[in-house]
Amino acid sequence: MSKGRHSRDGARVSSYRKEGVEHVLMTPSANVITIMLTQEQQLFSSIKDTISMVDKNDDLAKLSLLTEDILLEHLKHRYDKNLIYTYLGDILVAVNPFQETNLYTTQIRDFYRYSTDIQKPPHVYALVDLVYRNVCHGIYKQQCCVISGESGSGKTESTKLFLKQLMYLCGGSSQLEQQILQATPLLESFGNAQTVMNNNSSRFGKYIALKFINGKVVGAQISDYLLEKSRVVIQSPGERNFHIFYYLFDYLPLETKQILCLRTKHDYKYLLTNPSLDVQNTTAMNSLDEVINAMSLLNFTDKEQHSMFRILSGILTIGNLEFSIDDEGFTQQTSDEEKAKKNLSIISNMFGVNSDLIMECLTTMTTLTRNERVIRKFSLQSSQDARDALSKHLYARLFSWLIGKINETLNNPYPSQSYHHVVEIGLLDIYGFEHFELNSFEQLCINLANEQIQFFFNQHIFRMEMTEYENEGIIAERLTFTDNQTLLELFMAKPLGILSLLDDESRLPKATDQTFVEKLNYRFGSNKHECYSINRNNKYSFTIHHYAGKVSYCALGFLEKNRDTLSDSVVDMFKNSRDDLIRLLFHGNPSDGSIDSNKGVGVMLQHRTAAEKDARNRLTVGAQYRNSLQILMDRMCASHPVFMRCLKPNQQKQAYLFDDPFVRAQLRYCGMLETTRIRKEGYSVRLSFEEFIQKYGLLSKARPSNVPSITCRYILEETHLTEWQLGKTKVFLKYYHPENLEKLMNKY
Ligand code: ATP
Ligand code: MG
Repeated sequence: MSKGRHSRDGARVSSYRKEGVEHVLMTPSANVITIMLTQEQQLFSSIKDTISMVDKNDDLAKLSLLTEDILLEHLKHRYDKNLIYTYLGDILVAVNPFQETNLYTTQIRDFYRYSTDIQKPPHVYALVDLVYRNVCHGIYKQQCCVISGESGSGKTESTKLFLKQLMYLCGGSSQLEQQILQATPLLESFGNAQTVMNNNSSRFGKYIALKFINGKVVGAQISDYLLEKSRVVIQSPGERNFHIFYYLFDYLPLETKQILCLRTKHDYKYLLTNPSLDVQNTTAMNSLDEVINAMSLLNFTDKEQHSMFRILSGILTIGNLEFSIDDEGFTQQTSDEEKAKKNLSIISNMFGVNSDLIMECLTTMTTLTRNERVIRKFSLQSSQDARDALSKHLYARLFSWLIGKINETLNNPYPSQSYHHVVEIGLLDIYGFEHFELNSFEQLCINLANEQIQFFFNQHIFRMEMTEYENEGIIAERLTFTDNQTLLELFMAKPLGILSLLDDESRLPKATDQTFVEKLNYRFGSNKHECYSINRNNKYSFTIHHYAGKVSYCALGFLEKNRDTLSDSVVDMFKNSRDDLIRLLFHGNPSDGSIDSNKGVGVMLQHRTAAEKDARNRLTVGAQYRNSLQILMDRMCASHPVFMRCLKPNQQKQAYLFDDPFVRAQLRYCGMLETTRIRKEGYSVRLSFEEFIQKYGLLSKARPSNVPSITCRYILEETHLTEWQLGKTKVFLKYYHPENLEKLMNKY
């Protein structure tokens, strides 16, 4: 779409197309050019002072000698000077500064706007600019930005910076752009929490797909991945519940708290796992005001917002329900009748359901056998489990409703005739690799997602590179890298991978968490699988050798978490709730399911489809997760990826502390050294002969042959560039060649 780059080294008129209109920048006179250049250069050097002072090593792929020590030294050296960004060829590396910096001022944002061929210091904004230019020039139909790194390394902050700058580049003022930005604080307040690794840790994964036509954003769609809903009812030592629960107490006016029957945060069991833990300082925290503003901007009605608060209050109150046992060991009403009645009445009020029914659902199970109703009483443990399952399900459904509703707002219908003009940028921000003292089903899922991303990275950077060289007859040094495919197969294989075996056990009535581990040990233990080892001193434990290190998992609760069942009686109770939103969450009567006659239908349909799918297949959590990861991978594989690697400088979340061994371990496991080698030694840019001739044909006036490969050779020889190679169908270029070629093109 653009006719030539607008070159800041002066000589050329540039034109670009925006909103379907060709903008031509007139050629200024020589004097004007000089003044423009001087101003530009001043700005450039003042900004360079901020973001890249003296260090010449912006791009580590350009280092002539490369070892792990040298890489580490350079990153450390730069970090000490506040240079948190570094290139590794075309991969951007960011080391978390753990403090506010002056790297994101308006001046700097403008500096990275519509970049020219002047080499600019590495920055997340440079990546945004590159991706956005690709959008404007229609270079790729689909791109994705993959931001990876362990928990607390800065993925979410980078995603926010990326998104904000991207919206800035495409205008920054439209309602849709604002709505897209506002989805973040809303989702963070419900989906993030303080963990030992990160004060604002994402407890769900997200992929934001942004759609553009002519450089303008026209819609967005957010896909979410497995919210860690167990956090609603219990948190590990040193951790907190989801942020939103604390906002209720910290920010709601007294009057609203009274309406919601809220006491203080110290009165709720679900918030009491770590009573003395106060929220730690983080630059990333939002306030309830921001959440409410975001909801309003995203078309959540007042009525929906009130229902949402009532649900949150109800969840906290139900966590305080206690049960006692009768003489035969079955559950009965709680020991403290008065307190129980009060709590039940609040819950009944908040959830819009009958209080006796709640108690019945949590203490008994009714089954129908040969037309006879059989009522079975629960044990104390079963009642507590039923109570917590109800809270977890309700919260998770509230969260997916939020996403559905946000998507409904962001998914602007555009005219079908413009469909083929739509280009997409996907932004992936998942939960980072986790390794706690006690690792459960959630960590297994989180780490599996990280394995999958690592696989994609390997696949893209290494595998495809080598395969393509071979296919095209290109001579390249054979590179070694840590392949995690065998580990992925250990998890994903059907019918004998870990997830399939877990599904088998989840279906067997007599199976237990222990029998599951026994099966794993039998299949994979005793060196049968290189990524698995048995823990002989604990019958519930097994160890997986992840790309990022060994993690021992405790399988207690695995079967239940995988089945993730909610009793029919609870579902029926909620289906008949007096609250419109709760009915909607449990797919009640479709005819009255819409909370707002105009707006709810889309959301309702979305939920209904999910419900129907659920009912038909009764997929386990593991199976659903595997499917959603597969869809994500397919989507990413169809996109042109850009990569950002976030590094965590220390485990204490402290500024100015670079823990060498800790960073070295991250560099090693994420294949950074190998990445550098392959980027430097490999050919990261390749164009078919036709594409190359179309793009750079101007560089050679003569056309010696009708054979495309010969023409390409001729053009390349005329440029006097070196180190390129010609394959069977493509031209193979080094990562720095396009910039050189553009410079030559600008001379024409
Ligand atoms: P998780 O996998 O747990 O979600 P994450 O990789 O998303 O972790 P972030 O939440 O983005 O990590 O970052 C952790 C904290 O580090 C932030 O709350 C913020 O305090 C700090 N931080 C990260 N990036 C930056 C940055 N560019 N500038 C300043 N502070 C930052
Ligand atoms: Mg995060």
